[in-house]
Amino acid sequence: MNNRLYGNLIFELSHPGRRGCSLPRNRYGSQPQLPASLLRSEDAQLPECDELTVVRHYTNLSNNNFGVNNGFYPLGSCTMKYNPIINEEIAAMPQFTGIHPLQPEATCQGALQVYYETQKALAAITGLEEFTLNPFAGAHGELTGLMVIRSYHQSRGDLKRTKVIVPDSAHGTNPASAAVCGLEIVEVKSKADGTVDVDDLRGLLDDTIAAMMMTNPNTLGLFERNIPEIQEMVHACGGLMYYDGANLNPMLGECRPGDMGFDVMHINLHKTFSTPHGGGGPGDGPVGVRKGLEQFLPVPKVAKDGDTYHIVSDSSDIHVGEFFGNYAVILRAYTYILTLGKEHLRMVGPLATLNANYIKESLKDLYLLPIDSVCKHEFVFDGLIDKSTGVTTMDVAKRLLDYGYHAPTIYFPLLFHESLMIEPTENESKQTIDAFIDVMRRIAQEAKEQPDTVKNAPLTTPIGRADDVLAAKNPILTYRQLAK
Ligand SMILES: *Cc1c(COP(=O)(O)O)cnc(C)c1O
Repeated sequence: MNNRLYGNLIFELSHPGRRGCSLPRNRYGSQPQLPASLLRSEDAQLPECDELTVVRHYTNLSNNNFGVNNGFYPLGSCTMKYNPIINEEIAAMPQFTGIHPLQPEATCQGALQVYYETQKALAAITGLEEFTLNPFAGAHGELTGLMVIRSYHQSRGDLKRTKVIVPDSAHGTNPASAAVCGLEIVEVKSKADGTVDVDDLRGLLDDTIAAMMMTNPNTLGLFERNIPEIQEMVHACGGLMYYDGANLNPMLGECRPGDMGFDVMHINLHKTFSTPHGGGGPGDGPVGVRKGLEQFLPVPKVAKDGDTYHIVSDSSDIHVGEFFGNYAVILRAYTYILTLGKEHLRMVGPLATLNANYIKESLKDLYLLPIDSVCKHEFVFDGLIDKSTGVTTMDVAKRLLDYGYHAPTIYFPLLFHESLMIEPTENESKQTIDAFIDVMRRIAQEAKEQPDTVKNAPLTTPIGRADDVLAAKNPILTYRQLAK
């Protein structure tokens, strides 16, 4: 990296009169004069740079970004995994990017086929009847799924069902989506082992319950073992079961939500089925339903008639967005599913689970494991076991940057004070995982022997430890031109 230039804004590299391109001479004569009120009184303050300065500036900036292609990125609850380059190539094909969403069906049969087959593949993978790919994110999928559930109850004239049961360990989007859908949230407690407390649930069930939302594996990375009993209880009181399948990795090849008795679910294509999604997007949150609920899924959807694909726009009156969801994300998921194939999709769950358990077992003598049981694709430590050093989860996360690793998810879930949530994903090699374990052990050692090093980390990054509170409360996001 060019340290001399690092930290400069492109404006600060500007030299009056310098150009990176030349525009052709105006060959068309002067244009009619714009009204004076629309004209600038002075020139726009734009940076004036040569081409190479611009290229180097942005390349250096991009090198300061940590991505899954730079190194290990064990961010729990987010599934930051390898996104094969072939997905990007397919998603960038002009045959797809050049399609207009309003163009006649007969001229985009291939695109509709991809959409249709993705709907079908997700149904097969999850054991549900039908999928919509329209929602743009996991949270949007939750809202869509709850709208389906609300429509179902309304269609039966069962209007008193206005409550949704959400476990206290749920992702924050669950209660948020229920609230946006106009439903009341009832919290069910977790037991000491981290799974839903069935006794507490029993006391909450009555004929005002529209649905119960469950995340499986739950936010602690644990498989909810009591699903058979829970789904029976909720169904017996007339409610539906909603499956938050944002993180479906550990289930692939092992079990299917449809077989467990769930009625409605969403999947995050941008977690389980690749697509880089740092910085809040892009995503797609397909929603699937069991047989009997298809008519409540939003439109448009794609159907097949003989060999022809066509768009259905009138099978329900639920709309959750214009057109067909995030088509490029769907295309990446489709490519991912086809390149892995049935045989290799089956290996995703077991490998994701093995990798997470291997890290957990290799570190639990130094990091506090509040719930010591077999996990699925991720697990949560509650900071270092030795609290006497004063080294916190934040310090460990910052120190990892010095060793070239992205931090795990920290201070989430909220059930513990020093949460450190690790998800290796199924893609990583044993060598990568072993190297990460070594570094985590070294940091625990440093916490004892030289705690100040850890508390002041990162020491090797271009910017040291930022003041998080100041950055959140008083962010400076624009550049103010200094008076010359
Ligand atoms: C990521 C996640 C969500 C939300 O997905 P978005 O695409 O970020 O809206 C919901 N539930 C769980 C369990 C998640 O991990």
